[in-house]
Amino acid sequence: MCAKQSTSTVRATGRKLCPICGKASYSLAGVHPQCSQRQADIKTSERLKEVAKKAALNSPRPAATPTVRSWHKRCPECHKDVHVRLARCPCGFAFAQ
Ligand SMILES: [Zn+2]
Ligand SMILES: [Zn+2]
Repeated sequence: MCAKQSTSTVRATGRKLCPICGKASYSLAGVHPQCSQRQADIKTSERLKEVAKKAALNSPRPAATPTVRSWHKRCPECHKDVHVRLARCPCGFAFAQ
């Protein structure tokens, strides 16, 4: 029976565990270089996602354009574009003739 093999499953004391992958690291920082690089990549991609999200919020939406389509008038009640021939908006607002 090999007694040495049973100790491999026991957590090694004095050896730092990599906070990213959870495995023992031999480096002084306790983080595998490839793991820290991978985490940096994740952080960068997350930051880029945040920037893209903020840019999407700041940019005006196409639906919010104030221009009224031709042959349409805007209902002051529900702010929907209604055809000019309609005397009454689907919401119930009656246009002044
Ligand atoms: Zn690691
Ligand atoms: Zn309306």
